[in-house]
Amino acid sequence: MLLIKKIQKAFKGKFYKRTMKASIKLEECIGCGACEALSPGVFEIRDMKAIIKTQNIKKEQEKSVIEATENCPTKSIIIRK
Ligand code: SF4
Repeated sequence: MLLIKKIQKAFKGKFYKRTMKASIKLEECIGCGACEALSPGVFEIRDMKAIIKTQNIKKEQEKSVIEATENCPTKSIIIRK
């Protein structure tokens, strides 16, 4: 167990980067555009529904994605790290 911890510590962040992932519950999205306004690099409105433009959410975009999630009126955005 100690060896595993040493290996994890030695390689921390070098080979495995956890990135934020986002998804939208389309059946609940009302297409209000709040997510696109708050995080235009990640969200876009198409056909009156929000879509995720990229699953490669950059570290500097995470704050705006969290903000969009918190401000979604129908709580349709799901994020996980
Ligand atoms: S903020 Fe929520 S309800 Fe509004 S478009 Fe985005 S996902 Fe849909």
